[in-house]
Amino acid sequence: MYDVVIVGGGHNGLVCAAYLARAGLKVVVLEQRPVVGGAAVTEEFAPGFRNSVAAYTISLLNPKVIRDLDLAAHGLRIVERRIANFLPLDDGRYLKVGGDRFKQEIAKFSTRDADRLDGYQADLEIAADILRDLALQTPPNVTQGNPIAALCELIKAGRLAERIRRLGLERQRELLELFTASAGDYLDGRFESAPIKAAYGFDGIVGHYASPYASGSAYVLLHHCFGEVNGRRAAWGHAIGGMGAVTQAMARAAAGHGAEIRLSTAVREVVIEKGRVSGVVTDKGDMIRGAAVASNLNPKLLCLTLIDAAVLPPGFAERMRKWRCASGTFRMNVALSELPDFTALPGRQPGEHHTAGIIIGPSLGYMEQAYFDARSTGWSRRPIIELVIPSTLDDTLAPQGRHVASLFCQHVAPVLPDGSSWDTHRETVADLMIATVDSYAPNFKRSVLARQLLTPLDLERTFGLLGGDIFHGALDLGQIFSARPMLGYADYRGPIPGLYLCGAGSHPGGGVTGAPGHNAAREILRDFRRRRRG
Ligand SMILES: Cc1cc2nc3c(=O)[nH]c(=O)nc-3n(C[C@H](O)[C@H](O)[C@H](O)COP(=O)(O)OP(=O)(O)OC[C@H]3O[C@@H](n4cnc5c(N)ncnc54)[C@H](O)[C@@H]3O)c2cc1C
Repeated sequence: MYDVVIVGGGHNGLVCAAYLARAGLKVVVLEQRPVVGGAAVTEEFAPGFRNSVAAYTISLLNPKVIRDLDLAAHGLRIVERRIANFLPLDDGRYLKVGGDRFKQEIAKFSTRDADRLDGYQADLEIAADILRDLALQTPPNVTQGNPIAALCELIKAGRLAERIRRLGLERQRELLELFTASAGDYLDGRFESAPIKAAYGFDGIVGHYASPYASGSAYVLLHHCFGEVNGRRAAWGHAIGGMGAVTQAMARAAAGHGAEIRLSTAVREVVIEKGRVSGVVTDKGDMIRGAAVASNLNPKLLCLTLIDAAVLPPGFAERMRKWRCASGTFRMNVALSELPDFTALPGRQPGEHHTAGIIIGPSLGYMEQAYFDARSTGWSRRPIIELVIPSTLDDTLAPQGRHVASLFCQHVAPVLPDGSSWDTHRETVADLMIATVDSYAPNFKRSVLARQLLTPLDLERTFGLLGGDIFHGALDLGQIFSARPMLGYADYRGPIPGLYLCGAGSHPGGGVTGAPGHNAAREILRDFRRRRRG
């Protein structure tokens, strides 16, 4: 009999386990795959070449989680990119984002945009600061029928309102825009040149299957800005050893506090007895009893496949069926014989641009067209790609002189519009992605020694990411904060007593943040203390 059974050993399940075990609870993590980490894992995909399989770059991982779980002592080391992004352009020019010469870089395209950079970054930073404050808080929950609980939630909401009131009216307007507008409109209102808008706009469509001009995409942009690397805000970096190094460190932290981790153990059913969760049944038919069950799964996957709909509150399953999951991402890893030699910035020796997130997507219009194409034909002839070459920062991933690259390709249809299976198009689309990079760096195609491909369907099959959704549910206004995963269930407590949600489908959403796992553990511990007192 365990205190808490955690279903899924993704990074949030591991973080939750570590906090609970640290507090003295008896915890077991059940992971269906032979390795922990969920979407944050490293794998050898070709002899001698290792890379992060899905998630590939780090920023959002909460510094408190890093500290509390002592992840550095468990082997985690994060390094920063030398510049943030590099955008090779169709006309042979390029934009380097970040670094000391960032303003001069922007001024190549517009001096007015260069002058506006500080204001833009300051505005974004103020909004990102609010998200940072909120990331480790339980959102105000909408309650019914219990006046004391309602009052507590009202006080919580009041505190947040006061935090926002202190910003002043102009900042409040800014915040409203960031939470509701499109990334495209937000950026068009600030900059005039296409490359800088594309560089920032990319964050508005990452994992978000929509046009950059879709309302709400400015929030997705903001969501990618509330992290930091080694104290440097909004920076992105690389975990030495890939993302698996993050989750292996978390697993060691959890095990060090006494949590048990069982691999290759899929959960088939969450068992409910006398109106309360009593444990789970594994795919091998074993019953594992626990006073509480915390799910690291996409909430739709949990509710529609592991729980009998008849025991859920009226309307719950129906609403979960409408939970929007769609990322439209195609993920590739490639082993390279040499670094890409960009027409816009020639050179095969490692340069700072090779350490950056290399964005192929020169304008917001290009990105919008990619979405329209994917909607009508499944993928775009001119796809959006972020290429990251972590071996330029980490010599543990590839043999000396060779490299590995992650290709994070945006805007392929999660489900193909003609009804065909992704299994029949995987290689064609991979060829297209490689040809697209090759059109900017003509040695790329011939430098590819091996490749690993993940369509949206593969992401679903491998990791349980429905529709390939990297966030466990779109970050739409109707699916964030108090509405994640549903109004009334934003406090990490599920629809059945003893059931908790500790994955990215709860606040603050997707990304390798550790925040849902951290927050869920706090609420679970609160309930255990209450029950002991009662
Ligand atoms: C292609 C891709 C690229 C990404 N890039 C980045 C990035 O660069 N940076 C970033 O911060 N974020 C990135 N993300 C997002 C981030 O990886 C996810 O949002 C995050 O990993 C979610 O973590 P989680 O622990 O909540 O869930 P998951 O990582 O999804 O873990 C859930 C776990 O549950 C397990 N599971 C599922 N069903 C069962 C079952 N029935 N029984 C037992 N176990 C089960 C799964 O195997 C999995 O291990 C990316 C995601 C993807 C897919």
